[in-house]
Amino acid sequence: MPDTEVRTAIDALRADFRARLAAATTDRDLDALDAAFLSRKNGSVTALLKQVGTVPPDERREFGRLVNAFKTEIESAIEEKRGAVAATRRPAGAIDPTLGSRPIPIGRIHPLMRVRQEVEDIFARMGYEILEGPEVEDDYHNFEALNMPPDHPARDMQDTLYLGVPIAGGTWGAHRGRVPEAQVRAATLLRTHTSAMQIRYMKTFPPPIRLIVPGRVYRRDQLDLSHTPMFQQFEGLVVGRGITLADLKGTFEAMLRDLFGDVRVRLRPSFFPYTEPSAEVDISCQSCGGSGCGTCKHTGWLEILGSGMVHPAVFEAVGYDPDEVTGFAFGMGMERVAMLKYGVDDIRLFYENDLRFLEQFPL
Ligand SMILES: [Zn+2]
Repeated sequence: MPDTEVRTAIDALRADFRARLAAATTDRDLDALDAAFLSRKNGSVTALLKQVGTVPPDERREFGRLVNAFKTEIESAIEEKRGAVAATRRPAGAIDPTLGSRPIPIGRIHPLMRVRQEVEDIFARMGYEILEGPEVEDDYHNFEALNMPPDHPARDMQDTLYLGVPIAGGTWGAHRGRVPEAQVRAATLLRTHTSAMQIRYMKTFPPPIRLIVPGRVYRRDQLDLSHTPMFQQFEGLVVGRGITLADLKGTFEAMLRDLFGDVRVRLRPSFFPYTEPSAEVDISCQSCGGSGCGTCKHTGWLEILGSGMVHPAVFEAVGYDPDEVTGFAFGMGMERVAMLKYGVDDIRLFYENDLRFLEQFPL
């Protein structure tokens, strides 16, 4: 093989080698490349070297020099590329910062908590204190001091959830002397309203008073579209000199317009044992503007809270003088407000924690 032919053969092999080297990105690619050119058995450079026998004796030295130089060139090129591949390899246990992140689920405020915060804000702006009380109560604070004698229908076992065992050192201790021992067990219950806290407050502090008590209450109700055995309410109490029904109405008008927008408010006579006179408070239906629709049962009005002027017997029970002070009290269901505000027609949705429901409320 003449000198020029050797050079041509090497150039062809080099072009092939360089193309394949450029395409190689892994150790495995480089192993294959090494074998294709340098393997003793069938590497193409090895095959070229074996042709030394066809070269005239005086040219063999030059032939060997050229082919061996090319072999060295390939070896060092592969070695260099191995170093480059190793440099790009991630160390064991390394993270890949280019990977996209997992979406982080963001919680949102429960609709009932939204309503609670909103109502608390409204009353706080009007100068009310916000209190919470115990959910496990005694008969005295839940019923007796609120002018509900032992035969009052609201005390019926159907409505109240009594505890099987009184809590040791529980709140019934304060009036234990007045209740026969046999009744002490039945005197421990889950509060049916948050009014019990109002009694505690009045027994502790003198008038004037402006407070609301938000919290959970319990009744023996079956689960249906509008009832749950546990629900939440706000109860409020205002006591002072010269508080009248006009203050009651003015307060509700301000609060309900803040909460529901431009609604009309009306009072309807009602009855509660702890208020006299008592009134149900309605707002004009937002769905139909008062002309009548399914939401308001075609009356144009929606019942929103119960209220009244505090009964003198309640003041006497806590040691206030009914000739000195007057006041009003009210109770409003959080679920009822949330259902009207957000157009929810099933109260159970608030307690099922179904994300498909909860995710519909804004962050
Ligand atoms: Zn309506």
